[in-house]
Amino acid sequence: MNIHEYQAKQVFAKYGVPTPRGIIAETVDQAVANAEELGGSIWVVKAQIHAGGRGLGGGVKLAKSIDEVRELADEILGMTLVTHQTGPEGKLVNKVYIEEGADIQDELYFSVVLDRAAEMPIIMASTEGGMDIETVAENTPEKIIKIEIDPAIGFQGFHARELIFGLGITDKAEQKKLMKFAASIYKVYMDTDAEMIEINPLVKTGAGDFIALDGKMGFDNSALGRQKFIADMRDITEEDADEMEAAKYGLSYVALDGEIGCMVNGAGLAMGTMDTINYMGGTPANFLDVGGSANAETVAKGFEIILQNPNVKAIFVNIFGGIVRCDRLANGIIEATKITDVNVPVIVRLDGTNAPEAAEILKNANIANLIVGDDLGDGAAKAVAAAKGEK
Ligand code: ADP
Ligand code: MG
Repeated sequence: MNIHEYQAKQVFAKYGVPTPRGIIAETVDQAVANAEELGGSIWVVKAQIHAGGRGLGGGVKLAKSIDEVRELADEILGMTLVTHQTGPEGKLVNKVYIEEGADIQDELYFSVVLDRAAEMPIIMASTEGGMDIETVAENTPEKIIKIEIDPAIGFQGFHARELIFGLGITDKAEQKKLMKFAASIYKVYMDTDAEMIEINPLVKTGAGDFIALDGKMGFDNSALGRQKFIADMRDITEEDADEMEAAKYGLSYVALDGEIGCMVNGAGLAMGTMDTINYMGGTPANFLDVGGSANAETVAKGFEIILQNPNVKAIFVNIFGGIVRCDRLANGIIEATKITDVNVPVIVRLDGTNAPEAAEILKNANIANLIVGDDLGDGAAKAVAAAKGEK
């Protein structure tokens, strides 16, 4: 789960990480009231969507008067903001963050992410802040410092020194502030079960302070149960509608960009199924784990969710009947095809208890686009062929 910039800054504030003062607004009037409350003479109006690159897309703008705050809030609220991270369809802006203008001397890059290869969190930092870090990584990779932090020992003085010298900070007072900044962000990362914290830019102000001008956070969904403060920040308008719908029925669904819809029980079998489809020359359109209690209703709902994706050309149902017997599953699938209008070939491979009976039931059902797969390889091959329009 991800959160908005203004929410990340609330989390930072709890840990004493300096950020510009700001207030969230959902209407133009609120935006104006917020600017008045903040005072000062320069404000930044910032679109709140779960994507980076807002500045370049026209979603972050500087206002030099209250009237300008009003104009910009009116322009940005309700706009469909397109950035390199939203895809061409863009994202609707429902909220704007009104923030005091910061006195920027330097824009740095700072993040903490989980490095799966190193098997530990790493701090990444660069003097090339404010711009797309992917571009920096591609053109001038030597300008990115990576510091591995063994969670057993935590953030230490030697990590801080690596960071400070890597970024070329020579002033003693500034070194101290940056060290405190990094230690605090590392603590936020560990305490909140974050997977990613990105601060781009981390700004050095004219006064030599380090402040988080931007903030992106992503969390380990499995940890949300013990992170109520974070879980409450969920913004469902930012989440994939199909994934949310699936979750309501206990199905875990992830949309992918291939052509074969998959309905499988168990995450491991689902991964194996997607691999096998790939191996047979096809591409999976989704990951869908129907869980342990596959029945006519969940299967019907699964069909419905899979078919909302217009790229799906065939569906491969690959279910292992352990506790649920295959013959009952077969009847459930037949019933599901009656509940949900399935207009693409459905290849069914059931294995486990009463599998032969299940195959009989499916064959005798005489449903035109229902095809029985004998095993995983056969089922996947038939699904790939069906998606290509072959028989
Ligand atoms: P994004 O990364 O989505 O484009 P940012 O929050 O990083 O959004 O803002 C983009 C740029 O706008 C920053 O690099 C910075 O130059 C400027 N900016 C953002 N917030 C402020 C602020 N409070 N004061 C001054 N400039 C800002
Ligand atoms: Mg940014």
